[in-house]
Amino acid sequence: MDCTYCQREDFVLENKLAGAFFSDKPRAKGDMLIIPKAHVENFVKLSPKQKAAIDQLIFLTKKYLDQKYQPSHYNLVVPEEDKITAPKHLYINLVPGY
Ligand SMILES: [Zn+2]
Repeated sequence: MDCTYCQREDFVLENKLAGAFFSDKPRAKGDMLIIPKAHVENFVKLSPKQKAAIDQLIFLTKKYLDQKYQPSHYNLVVPEEDKITAPKHLYINLVPGY
């Protein structure tokens, strides 16, 4: 399958089942994406283990960004439909606000 997210290895933070990296098109300073390492199309198809891994990584990413940029808040975005990435690979977007 020709999925760029499946081939991704340059994670800033990662655990066994999920990885986090800076967005190529940041909406704000420190805009990061968190993805399952396996190809999963949307949130409801995640296994409990993948969900737990992503949850842990959201927490670690937030901590990392808190130290690096001190944002005042975050928006967590889980797009269900995205016409840019094909084939669709789930990502969770952690967008810091200032
Ligand atoms: Zn993929």
